[in-house]
Amino acid sequence: MGLKVYVNGELHEKQDARISVYDHGLLYGDGVFEGIRAYNGRIFRCKEHIDRLFASARAIALTMPMSKQEVTEAIRYTLDANGLSDAYIRLVVTRGVGTLGLDPYKCRDPQVIIITDSIALYPPQYYENGLELVTVSTVRNHPNAINPRIKSLNYLNNILAKIECIQAGLTEAIMLNKEGYVAECTGDNIFVVKDGRLMTPPVHAGILEGITRQVVMELAGQAGMEALERDMTRFDLYVADECFLTGTAAEIIPVVRIDSRQVGDGRPGPVTLKLLEMFRSQTTNSAG
Ligand code: PMP
Repeated sequence: MGLKVYVNGELHEKQDARISVYDHGLLYGDGVFEGIRAYNGRIFRCKEHIDRLFASARAIALTMPMSKQEVTEAIRYTLDANGLSDAYIRLVVTRGVGTLGLDPYKCRDPQVIIITDSIALYPPQYYENGLELVTVSTVRNHPNAINPRIKSLNYLNNILAKIECIQAGLTEAIMLNKEGYVAECTGDNIFVVKDGRLMTPPVHAGILEGITRQVVMELAGQAGMEALERDMTRFDLYVADECFLTGTAAEIIPVVRIDSRQVGDGRPGPVTLKLLEMFRSQTTNSAG
């Protein structure tokens, strides 16, 4: 039996799960999504993800066809149907079928899709050796154009940056905002450690307010470390003692080189490794 995908209340075999080519999610990237993980059968930070999905939907004036509780139950139902306890969950809400024109008000039926799959873990060497990053020229979306706080189906801004970093032979890129301050990576938030303090760009820098970012700030507090939201330039990255990325799939990944400069001593740093250990003990204890 293959994987089952939830579409509007029904489960379909993966190869039979479909939406219309007239769906504005496809025609215009008009919709919102979440990437969530389940550890040991528990949906990690479920409430935060559902709240962010509903906030994204509200921001694009998309009326959710289900309540928060119904969405949560639907995720649970899909996980159970697939017998998955450690999983990556992709929750997608499209604007629905409309005309070939832009008008979202002609789309009457938003589609709720839940894909649960086994998690494609990043290679262990990313964690052991750390990543190399490059700053790319694609500027992060201006918050007054498409606010990066909206986790929308239109990820072209990030994809353009991803193309640049792949061309440079790397897997993740640093995106700056229009003022030249560090925003985030294509699919992860960024932190530095400097003189025993954590620093990460503030929401106004034009970032997705990452849920892993929030967890890391909480963990820093528990470890008695200050975690500051600060406008940062590339200088702050280059002179950092440590640097790491956070994201649902990545968890916490050390960064050891940025724009061909070594970060710290060029090895994953002690604070990064401590936070990763704390993060992993939280997910294995299912405390999330
Ligand atoms: N920034 C962007 C652009 C993202 O797409 C993501 C999610 N992959 C993140 C940051 C990290 O957010 P979270 O910790 O909620 O997964």
